[in-house]
Amino acid sequence: MSQNITKGYNDGFNHDFTDEDARRLVSIATSPELSAHTCRWVEGSVRCSATVQGLCFPSHLREYHGIHGIGHRTIGFMCQWEGCSDTSTFSKEGLMKHIQERHLLWKWNCPNCGTVFMHQVARNAHYARCPIAS
Ligand SMILES: [Zn+2]
Ligand SMILES: [Zn+2]
Ligand SMILES: [Zn+2]
Repeated sequence: MSQNITKGYNDGFNHDFTDEDARRLVSIATSPELSAHTCRWVEGSVRCSATVQGLCFPSHLREYHGIHGIGHRTIGFMCQWEGCSDTSTFSKEGLMKHIQERHLLWKWNCPNCGTVFMHQVARNAHYARCPIAS
């Protein structure tokens, strides 16, 4: 009468979606937050080529490229990524999102069924109702 069915890392995932789930999703190895990305931000004539873990990108941008939200300077950042032709101005968060979506091409997997999403919120919404969750 064994009930030990191997379900990989799905144990405990088939409940309502909570903050706890959100934290677990971040810890999935294929998650873009944990992957290494190359920064191609251009300062003057110098291109940054640092290798930065996804989670560390906001702090990298802040410390190395002056993208921070201190005081009144929380908006009006322009993307200086190599080859970027977007002339919009962004908030700090908006710029990070732009970089994730346009330059780093972050993708988000459902840990249950493997479906790939371009946006984290879409993945989370799907994950909360993933038909393969149980
Ligand atoms: Zn950089
Ligand atoms: Zn850009
Ligand atoms: Zn799924």
